[in-house]
This record gives sequence, C-alpha cells and structure tokens, in this order.
Amino acid sequence: MGHTLSKQWVGWTVACLATLLLRQTEPAAAQGRGAAVPTHADSVRGADNPNRSWWDVTFYDLHVRVNPADSSFAGWNRISYRAVQPGQTMQLDLQAPLELDSVVQDGKRLDARQDGDAYLVTLPRGGAAAPVTAYYHGHPGRGRPPRTSGVVWAQDSIGAPWIATTDQLVGASVWWPLKDFAGDEPDSQRIAVTVPDSLVGVSNGRFRGSVRNADGTTTYEWFVSGPINAYGVAANAGRYAHFADTLKGESGPLTLDFWPLAPHLDTARVVWGQAKPMLSCFERWLGPYPWYADGYKLIEAPYLGMEHQSGIAYGNKFLPGYLGRDLSGTGLGLEWDYIVIHESAHEWFGNSISTREPGDLWVHEAFATYAEGLYTECRHDRAAGAKYLIGLRQGIRNTGPIAGPRGVAGWYNSDMYFKGANVLHTIRQLVDDDGKWREILRGLSRTFRHRTVTGADIEEYIARESGLQLGLVFEQYLTTTSVPALEYRVEGDTLSYRWADVVTGFAMPVRVVIQGLGERWLRPTEAWQGLKVPAGTRTAGAADLQVDENFYVTARKAEPGR
Ligand SMILES: [Zn+2]
Repeated sequence: MGHTLSKQWVGWTVACLATLLLRQTEPAAAQGRGAAVPTHADSVRGADNPNRSWWDVTFYDLHVRVNPADSSFAGWNRISYRAVQPGQTMQLDLQAPLELDSVVQDGKRLDARQDGDAYLVTLPRGGAAAPVTAYYHGHPGRGRPPRTSGVVWAQDSIGAPWIATTDQLVGASVWWPLKDFAGDEPDSQRIAVTVPDSLVGVSNGRFRGSVRNADGTTTYEWFVSGPINAYGVAANAGRYAHFADTLKGESGPLTLDFWPLAPHLDTARVVWGQAKPMLSCFERWLGPYPWYADGYKLIEAPYLGMEHQSGIAYGNKFLPGYLGRDLSGTGLGLEWDYIVIHESAHEWFGNSISTREPGDLWVHEAFATYAEGLYTECRHDRAAGAKYLIGLRQGIRNTGPIAGPRGVAGWYNSDMYFKGANVLHTIRQLVDDDGKWREILRGLSRTFRHRTVTGADIEEYIARESGLQLGLVFEQYLTTTSVPALEYRVEGDTLSYRWADVVTGFAMPVRVVIQGLGERWLRPTEAWQGLKVPAGTRTAGAADLQVDENFYVTARKAEPGR
C-alpha cells in the first residue's frame, strides 16, 4: 500500500516533516530530561503550589482567532473555578512571546504580576470564585525551535494555510492562557476557533455550529463534555473534508468523525477504516471507549501525531507502520497504522486516565505502546502480540530512568514507550492468567475513569488486584537502567541461580526452561539457590537454562564457585 500511495505524496509541502516529529523515537531523543537541571520555569509550571492549590478549574471557555496572514493568535479564556479554600493570588500561565493583555473579573481589570511564563493575579474578592477572563495575543512559539513552538504553520498541496497546535511537554500555555498544571483539569470545555472563511476550524469534542463573521472569518464552536488534560486540547485549521461512521460499541452507538484534508478524502476513507477494528479491540481489552458523549475523531495534521482528546491528530501520511517503518522489526507493525493505533490507545491511558505529575508520563506511553501489542494480538493471536512487544526491545536504550522527578514540567525519556510496554508485558507473565490480566486493564479504566492519577496509583492498583508483590519490580524498571540478570552456574548435579543487577530485595519470579527439568517457575533472590538436576538428563553443549523471552530480563552463566 505504501508504494501505491507514495506518488500521491509527492505534493506534500511541509519541507521536512522529520524535524517536526513530536513522537520521537530517534536516538537523539533518547536522553531523558532528567539529566538537565530543571529551570525555574519548569518547576513553576510543573508543580502544584499555594497559588494553584486553592482553586479548582471547572470550565474553560476558550476563544482563539487563528490568523495565518501574520502567524498570530488572539483571543480570550474565561476561567470558571471553585475555591477549595480561601485564596487571593491565582497563578495563570502564558508563555512568551504571547502577551497577556488583561485579566478581568466582574468587569474590573485585575493586577497581574509576571514571573517568567507565569502571572500572579490578585483577586480582590478572594474565594468568591467569580469567573476570570484572560485576554491575550501574539505569535505563539515565534523564535523557538519547531519542535517546541506549540503551533505548526504549514500549507497543504495547493498552498492553502494548514495550521495545527501541539504542545505536549512544552505546555498548553504556549498558545493559550490557563492553569497549565496536569493535576487540575476542567470538568468540561468550550473551544471556539475563528479562521479565515476559506478554512475549517476543527477541535475537540462535539461540533456545535459555526458563525460567519463580518470580517471574512468564520467561528467554529466545539464542546468537550468531560474533563480534558491541557495538552489534549487542540485547534486545527485547514481545507478539511469530512466523513462519518458509527461503531456499535460496548456502551452503544459511538459516532466516528473523520477530518482529512480535502485532497486526501478517498485515501483517508480506506486507511482510516482501521479505526473500527481498533476501537473494538481496545474496548475488549481496555473497557468501553471513554468519550461516548464526545465521539471519536481523526483529524489530519501537519506533524506525525498527538493524542488530542476525542480528536486524534494524524500525520502518518497514510503509510503503514510508523511512517512506513516497523518499530518492532518483526513485520507485524506494518500491518496497521501506528498513529491510528497508538494515539487512539491514549484515549484510555493519557486522556481518560491522565497523570498529574509530569514525571509519571510513562503511564501514558507504556500503556499506549502496550496496546499496540494488544491490537496485534486481536488481529492474530497471543503469540503475535508478544512477538511484537518483544521486538520493540531493540529500541530500548536504558540511558536513564523512565520515571521522572516530581513537580518538573517537560519530563521525557523515549524508553517510556518500549521499555514501559515490556514492563507491562512482563507483569502479564507474572499474573499468568489472561482473564485476570484483562480484568486488571479494564479495572484500571473503570476505577480511574476521567481522573488524574499518580504513577503510584496505577502501580498499587495492579499490585492489589493481581495479589502480587510488585513494588520492587516497578522500582527496578522505572527508576533504574539495569535489566535484571538471572545468573546461574552448574556444579556437578546442582544448578544454582540468583538475581544480579537488581535493586535490594528484588525477588521477581521468572519462568525458565532447565535442561533435564523442563519448564518451571523459579523464585530467585539475590542469594544463590540450588536445584538438583537428575544425572544423565543433560546433553553436553545444550543450554543449561533458558529464560522465557516474554520476561524483560537477561540470563548469564557465572563461572562455578563465583
Ligand atoms: Zn504516545
């Protein structure tokens, strides 16, 4: 399919899509942010603090005018909230070079003191909780590298403007003013996008209608009926076409809406047909799609992709796999579209279940990547799903931990994808009961539905429901770069084994095949334990011990007497 389609993409006008990839899996992105010293701004944006904790956002009413003529945004966000406790200073976030023009409450302009990309707004009536409106304008991301600009200003194949926001890691405040803190989501949100009449404005949630303005622009109104994380909010503008479908889902009819660029309509009808079997597979394994009220959408974007809630950004060029590549090296990843599958899995893990700590982003990426294996399993069988996930290990670098520091915005380490997925695959082996494992996944979706969580919430849920001691398993894989090594040695008729390269107390059971004994579970610790292997059952030259490859561990033979 990639070959027949490639000709249609000759006209692609984004000069170098590779520079715009936000879902980096390239070597250059392997280093986690943990190595860098967090800036003051990272901490101001990433952490809860007294100017944030006293108020809880209930509704964002965002109005943004997208002006392709001079690459500017302008608009306002009316913020409704409830006071959890008394407070008078409210932190709003808006990143330079955007300018906060004014903050208004009850028709009165409020005092706002700037601290870098944050504004400390003084509310005269404290906890009275009247809505606050922040007016702003400017050139979002101007002067910053494309990957951190928050807005991609592109053109379609006939030179018409094509604009899309994307701000994971860099923060939603790169293009609109808000409480840019992952621990507080509004209960619902309106997004009104104003674009030149020649374009269509597409955003999250349900389309409510459009109004043609007198100045040659049209305002498209969208409404998100549930909580939404800030980086899940997006504005798109382009010459979009539209088609729709319906899925008979677990919770009833689910509307599917597709927004390709007009010239790609026919191609999109074919390639995006994958959405239905994908949604059915994920509903089976992860529980009902989390946003029936808002529906499911795919929206073509001038960058690779992003899990914008109920409006997945798609830029995989309608190629199989990841821009025509299989990240697993097994060939299985070329059977489906990486962006359709991976980003949609984030509707469950990332959008419905969202981490409140930037350093816990591994929860989003580990489960979304693991879901790629589940989709492969749905298409084939358990073995194929496992093969795909095991194949992803070729991309693990182990250069830094996948869990980040607390309260610092922008944490990223690409190992959270492949390694994270393999941690989950390993835990499935420990659970050793597919029905129970599936119920744990569905239980996570049900228990934490539409909520913000910490990584610890997820770890503790899996441990509790599985009845397994997983604390040190998570500690090993999330906070260290060492792969547990099962060391073994053979002396006479005794095979001895122990864990090495592990955190203190690590005692994860593991399934192995021992020559002469066959398949069995071992319960290694850091101390040597021995097993009698019947004399005469071993063949010289054959492996004494093989670890089940479904476990993300290594095995190595130690010299006798070590
Ligand atoms: Zn992802």
